[in-house]
Amino acid sequence: AAWRISPRLELEEDPAFLQDHNVQVLLRARPISGIEIAQLGHARCIRQENAYAISWLGQPETRFSFDYVASEFVTQEELFRVAGPPMVENCMAGNNSCVFAYGQTGSGKTHTMLGDVGDFDRQPNENRGMTPRVFEYLFKKIHEEEVAQRHTNMKFKCRCSFLEIYNEQISDLLEPSSSNLPIREDSTKGIYVDGLVEVEAQNVRNILHLLLLGAANRKVAATDMNRESSRSHSVFTCVIESQWECDATINSRIGRLNLVDLAGSERQKSSGVDGERFREAASINKSLSTLGLVIMDLVDIANGKQRHVPYRDSKLTFLLQDSLGGNSKTTIIANISPSSCASSETLSTLKFAQRAKFIQNNAVVGEDASREAKGSKEHIQQLKDELARLR
Ligand code: ADP
Ligand code: MG
Repeated sequence: AAWRISPRLELEEDPAFLQDHNVQVLLRARPISGIEIAQLGHARCIRQENAYAISWLGQPETRFSFDYVASEFVTQEELFRVAGPPMVENCMAGNNSCVFAYGQTGSGKTHTMLGDVGDFDRQPNENRGMTPRVFEYLFKKIHEEEVAQRHTNMKFKCRCSFLEIYNEQISDLLEPSSSNLPIREDSTKGIYVDGLVEVEAQNVRNILHLLLLGAANRKVAATDMNRESSRSHSVFTCVIESQWECDATINSRIGRLNLVDLAGSERQKSSGVDGERFREAASINKSLSTLGLVIMDLVDIANGKQRHVPYRDSKLTFLLQDSLGGNSKTTIIANISPSSCASSETLSTLKFAQRAKFIQNNAVVGEDASREAKGSKEHIQQLKDELARLR
């Protein structure tokens, strides 16, 4: 099946329209941090125009459009409501979904994906992120389905794994002694990681336990640029299997839900980055840049073009091959800092996200329309040039 992408977005559209499209690009700005305020006060490098558009305030001022733009005031709950339910429902129906958090280190990727889980046993923390909420929703839906469909005996099973790709090597975040695991392909199993631990989860509490265990195991490396820099991609996968009996035959469906916290997208400074570190930087760029290329190809295919998608060029895209394209739904949450301190990295994230979407700017009614339309033509040419350069 071909991938569909959203038509030109209309400003008055409700986020519910997101359900219909297979590639979503959401942008999220976090609040300006104390360190940034200490450096440049409240100076901002972006201005939010509306729920779908944002302008970068450098030279030249540039406007970008996405499926949804979340300001720093958008809560975890609100962001989940925009992006979460369609992904979960897609997987329960036997398809695959991926949610990616993209952005420079410190832009809010882990906050968006995991957030502050707090003491979940006592009370769910309102700052918990996308992943805990996705599974709350999943188990709620499973419960509804199992109760509602009791006469058909519909049963769900959720098997979870948590891995890290670091320097183009896969290790198991649930079993840290397992490293450099191979990706294999099998006609019945599809693409899988050989030796990866899979744990059956019965409820949200089980999931949170796995998430926190994996997060604690996740590697961080210090660099010149950042005191603590996350150089690994983490992938939490839940295989959702449903079985039901109908006319004395057993039917089953399998969907995969992947939640990915990507490595920091910041450009690596060459000074102080040598040997092992340099190799790391190159490998990280490989998974990130291949992901960008794969998504762009898929958008092209959705537009009726022929493309050979380079899934196998990186571990991340090879691993997620079955979850990108076809009937899969993909959501990219691009995280940025609104502070002028982060201006150039914020621009590069906006450009990445725009390339992934490859949409035209909104034509705005009234006197702005012709300027916007022209701006958008120029912008598309820029994007095409960029695409040509990348190929
Ligand atoms: P990353 O994973 O991209 O390196 P983090 O998620 O660790 O970044 O975020 C960096 C800091 O900013 C953390 O202290 C985090 O709590 C805070 N932060 C990020 N996004 C938000 C947000 N939307 N609201 C409040 N605080 C945030
Ligand atoms: Mg992080």
